[in-house]
Amino acid sequence: MSFDFTLDTTSGAARAARFDTPHGVVETPAFMAVGTLATVKALDPRDLRAMHAQMILANAYHLHLRPGDELVRELGGLHEFMQWDGPILTDSGGFQVFSLEGLRTIDEDGVDFRSHLDGSKRRFTPESVMRIERNLGADVIMQFDHVIPGQSNETDAREASERSIRWLIRCEAEFRRLGNVERGTGNRSSELLAATSDGQLASVPSFPFPVPAQALFPIVQGGIHANLRREAGRAITSSGDWLGYGIGGLSVGESKPDMYAMLDVVHEELPQDRPRYLMGVGFPEDLVESVRRGVDLFDCVAPTRMGRNGTAFTSDGRVNVRRAELRADPGPLDETCECTTCTRFSRAYLRHLFVADEILGLRLLSLHNVHFLVALMRRARAAILDGSFDAWSRDWLARYHSRPTPVP
Ligand SMILES: [Zn+2]
Repeated sequence: MSFDFTLDTTSGAARAARFDTPHGVVETPAFMAVGTLATVKALDPRDLRAMHAQMILANAYHLHLRPGDELVRELGGLHEFMQWDGPILTDSGGFQVFSLEGLRTIDEDGVDFRSHLDGSKRRFTPESVMRIERNLGADVIMQFDHVIPGQSNETDAREASERSIRWLIRCEAEFRRLGNVERGTGNRSSELLAATSDGQLASVPSFPFPVPAQALFPIVQGGIHANLRREAGRAITSSGDWLGYGIGGLSVGESKPDMYAMLDVVHEELPQDRPRYLMGVGFPEDLVESVRRGVDLFDCVAPTRMGRNGTAFTSDGRVNVRRAELRADPGPLDETCECTTCTRFSRAYLRHLFVADEILGLRLLSLHNVHFLVALMRRARAAILDGSFDAWSRDWLARYHSRPTPVP
């Protein structure tokens, strides 16, 4: 079997485990850097390897629009295209499509929308999204789900959650159908998948490279309604033996206590022996709090987006490197960080780069921020393994919150 999940040990709800994928093992808890457009912005895959990043993300919606999932497939799939030989996960694009307020219409079969790039008309169905994700060839692919605003009422949240479960069943049927492909023949031109199809079944292609083994993850929705989260967890786990589970619709404007309460509910409903991936959650304090509640995998654009804006994560909270008091500060951004930014450059230099609008500044801060989260999860894993996680996480959170966070 190409996928496996082995629990090493637990500490309360927190888990240290190993997630085996066709492109290598992911030791969890782990933070996955986000490479929406098949690039973790400003970072080379070698940078990611050097900081021990294990698994990264890409986005089906964005890559479908540009450069096109069929082109990525022709060029050997996502791993080859972006020169990342480790595990990759693709998000289905549900979040992006449903964020196109005013640009989309939803029905039971799928979603009509206009491309944010050129306004062209498009349609996503559970089936077409599976074909896109199949073409991209990531190790883990997410189902197409109905995403709603964070504080939706229970009626709307129920409708979206139940539709997402119906769509999951359709995703799986198409995923199975596409899985019955034989090894590629090397003939690149034969029968490309019609990924922009209007939902009709497309022909099953021969791949120009060995057919990738993929795991389809369902997504537990339900907003901030505990009963809906519980029902969704039960319906999904009873609908199949899934290789892992996404937890969606959190960190989208709800309060922290609400988010943590939903994680506690989901933790009770999902099987212990499968990975849980909390989608789009990536502030340091959220990672530590969520590991305490049984989450294994995380992703978020925050470290690279904030890095480009001049904001750094540190063990003492966030720092805006443009702040005047750093002008002559010879110390590192974070004295506990072992990234190449912190081991080589001063706060004064980083401030200078941002004040002078130099491109190296964006790169160095993105590198530090991603490293910070990757290393934070490695540290959490070590603490779970040696039995000190409860004390370590409390101490870490107390230090992180001890200084008021400067506004970026
Ligand atoms: Zn650093």
